[in-house]
Amino acid sequence: MIIFGSRGLDLKRGEGNFFCPNCQTDRPYTLKERKRMGHLYWIPLLPLGSLGKFVECKACREIFHEDAQHTETNASISNKLDVAIKTALSAVILSDSVTDKNELEFGSKLISEFTSKETNVEDLQNDLEYFDKSEMHSSLSEISQHLTEQGKVNIVEKCVMMSLVDGDIADEEIDTIKEVAVALGIPDGYVPGIIQNTIERISNKG
Ligand SMILES: [Zn+2]
Repeated sequence: MIIFGSRGLDLKRGEGNFFCPNCQTDRPYTLKERKRMGHLYWIPLLPLGSLGKFVECKACREIFHEDAQHTETNASISNKLDVAIKTALSAVILSDSVTDKNELEFGSKLISEFTSKETNVEDLQNDLEYFDKSEMHSSLSEISQHLTEQGKVNIVEKCVMMSLVDGDIADEEIDTIKEVAVALGIPDGYVPGIIQNTIERISNKG
């Protein structure tokens, strides 16, 4: 009698962080590959082939299709949102030729308030020196898929608030605000209305 058998053996193929659909939050995962291991008369044979790869959540131990490792994490979305807001506000600050102390103070306050990173005037000044506006459009359009319509309008409003710090909105600032809106998927025809609403809200407050 020939005794032949096989069983699955899981080999580690990688690890990282992913958004676990079961835990509903960011978790570390292990990427594993199940190999079919055979034996003949209890002598192990080389792997008989792959039974496929899967992702295992290290927290809940639930397993998912290997594509789950590519699901964007909350941390990654939050980081992209931070960059997008900072980029949009920086573009507004740099729209007109003068960048005064008021703008820097208000800008760093807005960025600290609406992103996860504390930014002071020196940080902002440094960032503005190396600012590259060419990345603004892609940064904003990439994050727009994760934002509600109200979320998009909120970002445009921040830009309006930023541009109002020096008293009035210059034409160059309106152009930048329109670019921000369009990159987020808001038609530029809506921008005058958003500007108007923001001005009214600020004047009602104080
Ligand atoms: Zn999990």
